[in-house]
Amino acid sequence: MTGADHREQGTEPHPAIELRGVSKEFAGTAALRTVDLRIRPGELVSVVGASGSGKSTLLHIAGTLERPSTGSVWLAGRDVAGLGDAAVARLRAEHLGFVFQQFFLLSHVDIVANVAHALTYRGVAPAKRRAAAEVALHEVGLGHRLTHRPDELSGGERQRVAIARAVVGRPSAVLADEPTGNLDSATGREVLEVLLRLNAAGTTVVVVTHDRDVAAATTRCVELRDGVVVADSGVTR
Ligand code: ADP
Ligand code: MG
Repeated sequence: MTGADHREQGTEPHPAIELRGVSKEFAGTAALRTVDLRIRPGELVSVVGASGSGKSTLLHIAGTLERPSTGSVWLAGRDVAGLGDAAVARLRAEHLGFVFQQFFLLSHVDIVANVAHALTYRGVAPAKRRAAAEVALHEVGLGHRLTHRPDELSGGERQRVAIARAVVGRPSAVLADEPTGNLDSATGREVLEVLLRLNAAGTTVVVVTHDRDVAAATTRCVELRDGVVVADSGVTR
């Protein structure tokens, strides 16, 4: 029986994220060219390639932050193309968390407020938001820093706040774009450890990276060149 047959019979879970024949053009220039990528629940995937090869574009499209020019994106078994922007935003909020190279933290409030903010649009009461934020911050090893503002923390600690913010809504997958790109190797290692722990606890992790240590720590590596997947160590077709 093929994988598709298993899915039709409901014996195999949906891919966490699937791209089918995805291309993306910006002003007539192709950033992605007919990319097929199926990420299974619980996978730990790195995406590598030269600058400009389409890694961020791939991550943004896989994360439903951008729509493809052609092809389709499936999130938790739903074809996103059939959904309006508000429905996509809800599906994304339920299933995905994001971490970027820049930490994008609010500098004037403490880190609990930064993380709690991610729950604002999910109908969670304010007191519960802060409680959930504190739990997430403990999980990334920042339980002793709850009352600090981001500018009182190191780069590695700030990125761990960003990871706590990404996971506070308990997404099934976390997508990270060069999460160690602004960090030295020691603090980058801290961030990598947090991502590995998250994955060990069952969260699907997709990480775009230039960092060899990060790529080597993943169990599947996808390589892009000029918008084409030229290698995928996890492909089983
Ligand atoms: P990477 O993350 O691997 O460095 P990107 O996905 O950012 O690559 O970019 C891939 C290609 O698409 C590049 O040629 C880049 O200039 C182009 N590109 C990406 N985003 C945009 C955009 N918003 N507008 C125009 N061109 C873009
Ligand atoms: Mg990029």
